[in-house]
Amino acid sequence: MFAAPIDQLALDLYTRIFTKAEDQAVYALENGICGGGHMKVVSGTIQTARTGETIAQGKSCGSILYLVE
Ligand SMILES: [Zn+2]
Repeated sequence: MFAAPIDQLALDLYTRIFTKAEDQAVYALENGICGGGHMKVVSGTIQTARTGETIAQGKSCGSILYLVE
């Protein structure tokens, strides 16, 4: 289901999110554009996705995002 390699910590976070919100989808965040809502995201969201410390989400659509660079 994941196109990009995700480390175990991030995977745990995703698993936890999915347990809470099973209907939420994961999309790529590419070139600053959310793959779910196709809207530009703020730089803070990109930073969040880059560090992987917390889950990055598209503000408008609520999609869970992983960074593609
Ligand atoms: Zn979005």
